[in-house]
Amino acid sequence: MKTITILVPCYNEEAVLNQLYERIQVVIKGIDNYDFKYVFVNDGSTDGTIDILRKLHAINPNVHYVDLSRNFGKEIAMIAGLDHIDSDAVVIMDADLQDPPELLPDMIEWWQRGYKDVCAKRRSRDGESWFKKWSSRTYYRLLQRLTNVPIQIDVGDFRLLDRQCVEALKLFRESQRYTKGMFSWIGFDKKEILFDRDARAAGKTKWNYWKLFNLAIEGITSFSMAPLRIASFLGCVLSIASIIYMIYVIIKTLIFGEEVRGYPSLVSIILFIGGAQIFFLGIIGEYLGRIFNETKNRPLYLVKECDGEIVIKQKF
Ligand code: UDP
Ligand code: MG
Repeated sequence: MKTITILVPCYNEEAVLNQLYERIQVVIKGIDNYDFKYVFVNDGSTDGTIDILRKLHAINPNVHYVDLSRNFGKEIAMIAGLDHIDSDAVVIMDADLQDPPELLPDMIEWWQRGYKDVCAKRRSRDGESWFKKWSSRTYYRLLQRLTNVPIQIDVGDFRLLDRQCVEALKLFRESQRYTKGMFSWIGFDKKEILFDRDARAAGKTKWNYWKLFNLAIEGITSFSMAPLRIASFLGCVLSIASIIYMIYVIIKTLIFGEEVRGYPSLVSIILFIGGAQIFFLGIIGEYLGRIFNETKNRPLYLVKECDGEIVIKQKF
């Protein structure tokens, strides 16, 4: 029998975990021919999440949990989960029931037909503000223009991945992760199925605009060198324009002489070029920072406890 693991990253999700577990249980009872397992990753929660996970593990041996040593963020929590999987496929799901487990039979069906990555595409996004929807749409358009890999629009981390994809993703050991880009980067046969994304069942979202902005920068800098290219391009254009202007000024002075004027144009040019320089330096700094971070070669995460056992020697 093939096995499927349900992977759930959890950060302060005590309000929804039991409800999530019950709802998934109902769904998988209706699916024959597969063995199901759970891997919950506790991403340094400060509430009672770990106690709930311990309880679930005690009543159901198919429930496993990985307790990280602190909060590492969802991207890292996901790779920590993938590192602890040994099944034929994995379904990544948010803890807050925004990703309906009822989609599982559909996903499995497409997986059986040979697709390696069955992703759930949002038809609607209830419970999200007009601004969040608009900014996310604009961002993905921009990202798509800047990168070579096709970025999936309105597709999140909710998906079924074949073991082949999981092993591929495990090869990505970069610490600043943009998992959504990696899903696209690895390729393999993808199938998008539509679903309606509900509002969060309970608890609070862990995202704010600052975190989203950071993730957005992550997406661009980890999958595209386009900003550097654009900076070089604009730098060239500016230099050429300055040379032309310089020649014009010299010729004009030679022919007509010069009574000192032009203070406003001088100041605007200096300010503009100064601003552009600082901006481009910032872009270079972004990439340099990434190089710095990656060369440190630190472990991606540390595990405190795994299925009730204290972890002394880290697995990865
Ligand atoms: N999450 C996590 N670590 C974090 C933040 C979030 O593991 O630092 C998990 C969270 O528990 C949830 C999923 O990532 O299962 C999505 O988070 P959330 O629902 O807050 O994000 P949203 O749906 O609002 O984008
Ligand atoms: Mg959510």
